[in-house]
Amino acid sequence: MSENLKTGAGKHKRACYVLANLKENMNLDVYVGQSKTVEKRPSSHSKKFNLYNMEPCANEQEMNHLEGTLWHLVKASVRANENHPNTEFCPFCA
Ligand SMILES: [Zn+2]
Repeated sequence: MSENLKTGAGKHKRACYVLANLKENMNLDVYVGQSKTVEKRPSSHSKKFNLYNMEPCANEQEMNHLEGTLWHLVKASVRANENHPNTEFCPFCA
């Protein structure tokens, strides 16, 4: 999947991303993150994820808001994040 991203136009895209691992037993792990170099980020995760999506963000504020929103959208039982990312910027927790 990181190969496909490298061929995308532009470098160092600012974006929020969602990594998901859907296992054969239908258990799901979902990780929400943000990166200013999103094309490099997924491959730096040690854990294997088999689904990937990202949403480009225009600026830092948009990225922080989106990351918090995505985190809240993921059901607690399937979250792979150890902690709530960027709590201070979260539109739900602020
Ligand atoms: Zn929050």
